[in-house]
Amino acid sequence: MRPINTRPSQLWEQWIARLHGVVDPQKDYFRLELLQLLARCEISDRERFLHRFGTILNRSLKSGTILVVERPSGTLIYANRHQPGKKIDRSLTKRLSDEPTGLVIRQFPRPWRLRRHDPPVKSVGQLRIGLFPDNPADLVVLAEEAFDNEDRRFLHFVAGVVGLLERQVDLSRQLSREQKLIQSLTQNLSEGLALFDGDGRIIIWNRPLQRMTGFSPKDAQNKTYDQVLRFIDRPLWLRELIDSHQNNPNQSGFLIEGQASTGAKQSRWLAVSGSFLRNDQGRIEQAIVLVRDISHRKELEQRKNEFISIATHELRTPITVVKGYLSLLAKADQNLTDKQQQYITNATLATERLVKLAEDLLQVTRLDEDRMQFTLQPVQLTNVIEKVCHDFREKASKKQLAIHLTLPPFPTTIIADSVRLEQVFANLVDNAIKYTEKGAISIGFEYFLEKLTQEEKVTVVIKDTGIGIDSRDLEEVFEKFHRTSRAATSREPGAGLGLYIVKSFVDKLGGKITVNSRPRRGSSFAVTFPIAEGSK
Ligand code: ADP
Repeated sequence: MRPINTRPSQLWEQWIARLHGVVDPQKDYFRLELLQLLARCEISDRERFLHRFGTILNRSLKSGTILVVERPSGTLIYANRHQPGKKIDRSLTKRLSDEPTGLVIRQFPRPWRLRRHDPPVKSVGQLRIGLFPDNPADLVVLAEEAFDNEDRRFLHFVAGVVGLLERQVDLSRQLSREQKLIQSLTQNLSEGLALFDGDGRIIIWNRPLQRMTGFSPKDAQNKTYDQVLRFIDRPLWLRELIDSHQNNPNQSGFLIEGQASTGAKQSRWLAVSGSFLRNDQGRIEQAIVLVRDISHRKELEQRKNEFISIATHELRTPITVVKGYLSLLAKADQNLTDKQQQYITNATLATERLVKLAEDLLQVTRLDEDRMQFTLQPVQLTNVIEKVCHDFREKASKKQLAIHLTLPPFPTTIIADSVRLEQVFANLVDNAIKYTEKGAISIGFEYFLEKLTQEEKVTVVIKDTGIGIDSRDLEEVFEKFHRTSRAATSREPGAGLGLYIVKSFVDKLGGKITVNSRPRRGSSFAVTFPIAEGSK
């Protein structure tokens, strides 16, 4: 951790400006030295500091002045030659215990003597030095003559500087307490925690990070994020995140997962979540990140995906065979009773559902493992939507649902993978039919100019009048295996994979999908893509 700067800065400068009124650097050598002692702020050895303070102040005052530095308890720290080894008669001085700092000057109406042969004293200056709050010291100055204006000004000045120092010391104590607290918190966390500055240099790097990255807090000193948190596929991750968040003050959090190299040929899966801290002008100044080792979870996920992949492959073949025989049976034997025909239809529908489930599962595992290929090329969006509507008209009419398609007066081209794009809209229209009992499905196009990027975009809206989605489910419908309770009671079959695949495809194709819905009123899914240049 970097040391905290305890030197007074701006305030000091203000005081230095006032210095010229009380100290003449040509004449007042000792006064200047006293101020330098305070400016150096070397107060770790309190006895030495107070002693030195007394000695130099003594030299900078008029001769004949009595000067004593002692504890409120009466323990003597320094006394000048006019009061050698003697404590101050406390009846003379004001109790300062209620005034932890500050200067009190008293003038006596009649001269007063400490001892019979001592010279008379006409004024007392008393200052509580609270630089060591647990053990303060009093400085007592007794003057033979009443203090003149210059003495007074100087004493007030010294008191002011001491007050300033006290504030400074107090602040740095508070800071170092907080620093210790942060240090103990960060070092005792079981998760990795790091703090980087705006240039990616490490400010804090806790111990658990050594396990995850191979770099101890000591190794990480003076390094930058890319030297210690090395994501194989994204070496400049923090720079990229700072750049993308810099002009977007509402966006301050982030989460990335990736494989990070941890030394010779070794790597771990790490999840880094964090947020940016901005200065008053809104510029990113620091990034605080929590790092978790997710290697075990990733390994399990990988094994699970492998299992699903093998199991679904194995299932697909026999299901396809059964489906084939069923269709042969339906066509071949004309002597089947209506009931038997119905059994065959039911069995065919059930195998179709199984084939769809197996295919969805395979696609999900491919997506999760980033093994899915997308062939991007210009696609006529209007054609794709027309085809999907055509394919689903029969299914819709079986439920007496109409599909209203409003095509734009011009064809619209986007850059996409036509097969995946068709799958996106087929899934959405299929759901609209599945989850609607009466009414209609309407599909329309909207065009707009994205303000930020000046990109022309098209949104396809698929609207139904079905069971709708409760607001608490809206965020989750795009998650894997999520089915709403409404869907479950609707008795429509489904595994909750369709919308997950839809959203993954839309994201991969550079689009955006949103949903709006009111229970029992219907839902509307909106899919937006940038329009290809020269289209429309
Ligand atoms: P499923 O195979 O269950 O339909 P999806 O991933 O396609 O899976 O959809 C997830 C869930 O979202 C559905 O189970 C259903 O609860 C809800 N849902 C999707 N589309 C609609 C819709 N048009 N109307 C109402 N609910 C819907």
